[in-house]
Amino acid sequence: MKWNDLKQLEALLLKTEKHGAIIKEIGRSGQQQPIYSVTVGDKNPNRAARSGADRIIVAIAGMHASEVIGQLALVDLISKLNSANTKRLQYHFVPVADRDLLAENVQQLSEPITLPKLLSLKSVRDLEGYFIANCYPECEAIRQWLETFPRIDTFFSLHAAPVAPGLFFYVAGKSNDCIAFVADRIATICQPLKIPLLEFDPTGDSQKALFPGFFTIPTAVELNSRDDRDRSGTSIEFVAKKFQPTFIGVSEIPLGICRGLHNAPIEKIESFNKQLAQNAKINLPYQELDLSTQIELIQEFVLASGKYQLKQDR
Ligand SMILES: [Zn+2]
Repeated sequence: MKWNDLKQLEALLLKTEKHGAIIKEIGRSGQQQPIYSVTVGDKNPNRAARSGADRIIVAIAGMHASEVIGQLALVDLISKLNSANTKRLQYHFVPVADRDLLAENVQQLSEPITLPKLLSLKSVRDLEGYFIANCYPECEAIRQWLETFPRIDTFFSLHAAPVAPGLFFYVAGKSNDCIAFVADRIATICQPLKIPLLEFDPTGDSQKALFPGFFTIPTAVELNSRDDRDRSGTSIEFVAKKFQPTFIGVSEIPLGICRGLHNAPIEKIESFNKQLAQNAKINLPYQELDLSTQIELIQEFVLASGKYQLKQDR
């Protein structure tokens, strides 16, 4: 995958159908463009119905259209899963939740695609915070799609961060051992690359670290109490209430790491990123996280909990 593949994301997505992915239109965007779900993995309906033992893993990317990495990572993952041994694991993805605004962002991106350009993407609506409200047809389509599942064992909403002091995820679910397993897999990728896993949430949204880089998920009510907005509820809350998954994960993959922002208040992190976006001179060194590392982190995050659950079944 290249950043430039954002310009042909739909074509790449539709191409996975030839290799075994099942693609369905689950609704239409505000501009009447199709929103797609993709199913990959074990498609043996007999076994699933008979034993009920298949694990159902659901992931959505692009609830914030300016955060593009999750969308690239999921389309790439679909191709990989098409040719992998996925016995007893079913994956169901909505790789592009807000396609109208993603299209606006992609249109803005001229080559070469650089970190400041990715930081300056402006088209974004809060489909995550207003997931339960009836303001976006995209959310209604995804909600209706989610309701068709008999159960969901693992759920992800994939997000991204600008340049941050380190890496962090938000997690929840019934199994602390599963969270520990996922945290360990992510740490295995981070250690040789010297990517710091943060001890506390730089945004201040989450109050509790379960493992380095792994924080509890703040609710919409908690988020609302910290600013003046009135979010209705997130996709995470929607799925948690209806399905009580074993594992729920939210990625916040940063575009780069700036250790000098460690312990910095969120305002300082924001102004640092604003300056970077404007190509202004900055006084702290930072390192871009290359695209392949960002994709690897997201894909391991999505795959690790399924691996853990299969191990438990043995
Ligand atoms: Zn986001």
